[in-house]
Amino acid sequence: MTLLILFVVVGCNQSNSNQGTTTQQSPIAQEAAASPTGQKPKTKVVATILPIYLFTKAVAGEAADVAILLPPGTEIHEYQSTPDAVKAIATANVLIKNGLGLETFLDNTVKNAQNPQLTQIDASKNIKVLNEISPVLEPTAKEHSHEHSDGNPHVWLDPVLAKQQVINIRDGLIAADPANKATYQTNAEAYIKELDNLHREFQQTLNKTPNCTFITFHDAFPYLAQRYNLKQVAVVEIPEDQLSPTDVQKTVNTVKKYQVKALFSEPGVDNKLLTSLSKDLNLTLSPLSSLETGETNPQYYFQAMRENLQKLEAACK
Ligand SMILES: [Zn+2]
Repeated sequence: MTLLILFVVVGCNQSNSNQGTTTQQSPIAQEAAASPTGQKPKTKVVATILPIYLFTKAVAGEAADVAILLPPGTEIHEYQSTPDAVKAIATANVLIKNGLGLETFLDNTVKNAQNPQLTQIDASKNIKVLNEISPVLEPTAKEHSHEHSDGNPHVWLDPVLAKQQVINIRDGLIAADPANKATYQTNAEAYIKELDNLHREFQQTLNKTPNCTFITFHDAFPYLAQRYNLKQVAVVEIPEDQLSPTDVQKTVNTVKKYQVKALFSEPGVDNKLLTSLSKDLNLTLSPLSSLETGETNPQYYFQAMRENLQKLEAACK
């Protein structure tokens, strides 16, 4: 309920006119969603990673029970399944994943869960993936060819693609739980409107600094960079990679080659080498969130993305 109220308040500040779907909300669906003593048990939904959880929670509101499979702080790229994960999927009605090869552990986990009534939703359905969009300075020592096998998975960091993920989640939830269709539609519409506003803010702000080049610690921002006409160069593909002296040398060369404006670290990751590198190169170093960790309130997406925008704006000036 709190969420809905918040959406309405936010909605008042926006110039957009309301579009269509709210009229379809039936009193029955509203009652079912609001009733604390509803006879029918709520649909149990499990979302794999934080951004997918945020989008799912935003769409589901109180109409379904939404749980997160990988708690924030878990390293998602090389996650190994646990008995708890198997148990969560075994008792769920719906499983929602980011897809694009990010959740490599999932096929086996689902198999072990042996849940014949499980509905699976791929949040990245119909999203065109990027393979080679930004140069990645490959770490020399490590081999992780399994990584990003289906293209770069970080689509949620582009507000426009995030919108498509919300739509996929909405449609998946409606198919799995048609009784709450109206609630899912209304909630999704409110969240999408906020995503549209965020997109406009990014456009207006970053329009002023086309082709601004930045270096990130992991290859999470190619979609965002492409959307807003920036250039991302990633030092490593995934955050747990350690920087080798060769990586550092490559970074130095890259800074010169691409006229790099800024270095970005990642919250919660030890970036000692990047810190000393930024001093040597006289570049600012600030954290840019990939939203792989953070708070579980759906509004956290907008908070973290606006902080990212501020960091990018300051760096690209
Ligand atoms: Zn990542």
